[in-house]
This record gives sequence, C-alpha cells and structure tokens, in this order.
Amino acid sequence: MPDLDTKTLQEYDRKYVWHPFTQMRDWEAEPPVVITRGEGCYLVDSDGNRYLDGVASIWTNVHGHCRREINDAIKAQVDRIEHSTQLGLANDQAAILAKRLVEIAPAGLCKVFYSDNGSTAVEIGIKMAFQYQQHRGATRKTKFISFVNAYHGDTIGAVSVGGIDLFHGVFRPLLFPTILAPSPYCYRCELCPEQDSDMCGRLCLAELERLMAAHADETAGLVIEPLVQGAGGMIVHPPGFLKRVRELCDRHDILMIADEVAVGFGRTGTMFACQQEGVTPDIMALSKGITAGYLPLAATMATQKVYDAFLGDYRELKTFFHGHTFTGNPIACATALASLDLFETDRLLDSLPPKIDYLRARLTALEELSHVGNVRQCGMLGGIELVRNKADKKPYPWEERVGMRVCQEAKKHGLFLRPLGNTIVVFPPLVITLDELKFLMDGIETSIRAVTDP
Ligand code: PMP
Repeated sequence: MPDLDTKTLQEYDRKYVWHPFTQMRDWEAEPPVVITRGEGCYLVDSDGNRYLDGVASIWTNVHGHCRREINDAIKAQVDRIEHSTQLGLANDQAAILAKRLVEIAPAGLCKVFYSDNGSTAVEIGIKMAFQYQQHRGATRKTKFISFVNAYHGDTIGAVSVGGIDLFHGVFRPLLFPTILAPSPYCYRCELCPEQDSDMCGRLCLAELERLMAAHADETAGLVIEPLVQGAGGMIVHPPGFLKRVRELCDRHDILMIADEVAVGFGRTGTMFACQQEGVTPDIMALSKGITAGYLPLAATMATQKVYDAFLGDYRELKTFFHGHTFTGNPIACATALASLDLFETDRLLDSLPPKIDYLRARLTALEELSHVGNVRQCGMLGGIELVRNKADKKPYPWEERVGMRVCQEAKKHGLFLRPLGNTIVVFPPLVITLDELKFLMDGIETSIRAVTDP
C-alpha cells in the first residue's frame, strides 16, 4: 500500500478515531501530528519532523524505538507462531519469560499470571487478593485500601481503587467503595501544612495505620504505586514510606498489591521500585516497560502463599476463573525477553546514575523559575508542577490548560511531551543519552518560560 500524504492521514484520524483522555472537540480543531516512524529516542511524523519522545510514548519505551535487536526478535517469533492460548496449552516464550521475571523480581514473587495491559494486571491483583481471602476462610475480608491521587487504570476495578476525582468522579456510582488513605503529596499535604516531607510521611502513615487497625478484619488488600504516584502528578513518596506500608500490611494481615506498571523495568534506577526499599509485595502488577513499549503485555506476579490458596480439587471451586484471549501472547513474550537481554548487554541499569544526577541538577535549577512551584524526581522520572503563585501555591485554573500549552510549545522545540494537569512530565526512554537529555531539558525550560513568563 502506498504511503498516504499527511493531509489524508489527518483527515482519516479526525473523521474516524476517538482518542483516549482527549476532548475530541479540541482535537478536531487542530491538525494532528501523525507519527509514522521511530528512531531511537525520536518519533518521526508523516512530514519527516522529528520529536524527542519525552514521555517514552506514555511511559513505556525503554531501549528506544525500532531497536534492531527487538525488531529481530519479533520477526523471528512471527515466523515461528503468532499466537496460541494459555487455556489448555503452554508456550515456550511465556514459560521462559516467567522464569526470567521470577529471577529478577523481588525475592518471593514466584508465579506469573499473564494479561495484556496495566489496568487488567491490577484488576487481576484485586480479584486474586479477594479470592485468596475467601479461600482461607477470611470471608469478611472483602474491602481494599487505596490512596488519594492513585491511578491504577481504567477498568472498573482499577478505577475503584483509583483516587483522582477528575478522571474517576463520573464513574462513582459504578465503583466499589474503598477505604481511602491519604497520599503523601508533601507539597500539598493536607495533614502537614509545613510541607516537611518527613513529617508528611509520618502523618500519612499514622492515618494509614489508624485506618488499618479500624478495618483490618474487613480488608483483603491494599493497592499502592510504589515510590511514585504517576498519573496523580509524579508524586514522589518520602523515603521509607513503602517499607512501612509493607510492615503495616503484615501486622494487620492485609495483602499488599504493588502496581509497578509505570515504575517497573528500571524507571526508578532499580529493576523494580519495590527493590529500593527491600520490599516484596504479595502481588505485583507489571505492564508498559515489560515489552520495552513495543507490544501489549502484562503480568501479575504472586507469592507461593497466594498461589497455594488456589490449589484444590476442582469441585472446591478454588480455580482462579480469569483469563484473556491474548494472555501470554508469544510475540509479546519474545519481545519482553529481547528487552531483558538488552538490559544486560547494554548494562542499562548501570548506565543510569549519571543521567539521574543530570536530571536532578536540571530539575533543581528549574525551581528558580517564577512559576515552578515544585519539582519531583525519582530515578529517570520527573514532574515539574507549575503554579500561578509560588507564595501561596495557587494552581493555574484547569481551564487555562497551562500544562498542555507548555507541551504544545515544546513541539516547536522538537519535543513530544504530555502533561498531567499543571505538571510537566519528564519520562524519556531509559536509553536516552546525556546530550539528548540536555536537549530535552533545554526545550522544557524554554517552553515553560515562554508560556508562564512571556
Ligand atoms: N497503573 C499505573 C501505575 C499506570 O500508570 C497505568 C497507566 N498509566 C496503569 C496502571 C494502566 O495501564 P494501562 O494503560 O496499560 O491499562
């Protein structure tokens, strides 16, 4: 099929595609950028313009686009088999990948349940935790603890444990209620107006402990994004928070479900965020970076304790009745294996510290700007929160779309960015070079200045 020209592609998109998280009236008003190729950290549009992929194509890309080794693995797998099923069959790629995941995951996570997107990986974790408690006779343990500002995906269960009213409010009548714990969002901590991160962490933990003690006998599990609440605004939790949550879950006999969909696979500087605090969750959800951003795949990992609760005679109905058509797809699993190989051959995790240091220096410098209220960083991710007034932290009103305008401006400087409200997100492919990172941060700084201090 011949390449279509940009105008035709734009027309097809505007006429037929409904975009996620997008007000389509605004979308239809502007001709979209149509991406047709990728090269390393760059996206290339149908007119040949190049954009540094500053958000790793929504937090998924790890080794750059069109990386030869991954492309070769995909092609080789397509020539063997494209898909079979996990219902009644095993496949080689899924089996090998499960072994590799167990080897690199926090010690104790030893079983891999596959699915194909992050929301579903969390949804599975919730259902597993619920059913686990039923099987062990704790039939009153049916509730979940979730956090303000949490985001775990868009399916109904995942939305139920989410805590972002802007996204989730309209669906409230459809959702199951949770026990809502405060988010240690130190810059705007409701419990700790001093904005002291130690104090904020301690006060949030004290409230969490109070909730757990009050609800332990009816709580099946707690769902948490380890170290960073991503979509909530790249909210970085105080050091030690996660470890303490683990201890509290143990004390109150509550399963800990760690959602590493965004932070897994090297983003925070270690392979998994939980490893920074020596934490093994009972259940861990993975997706996004699992295939380095190439193909849909997800995994929900569980401990032996959780797994064993599902074993029994088929008449006992202990089976986990859950599964999706594309579960454990061999092309996706082969892609994930190629990505894990690249982590090793590129010594990718070892290459991160100088980039993390550079990112820290650039983010810190941005605090000088007159409308940068707070910067946050954890490893190779960052958030820059823009405010109308630094003194009283007054946010820009939603209607001004300041974050979106900065990202529009950044396009002129060769960057593709996507904000979270008034927070500019920095989340490049991990393979980004120092030069490219400088280009990214220069462009972000220029764009913030242009929009907020014209
Ligand atoms: N959990 C977290 C922490 C996420 O950041 C996301 C997606 N941004 C999801 C779950 C949902 O993943 P997906 O979009 O693949 O459903």
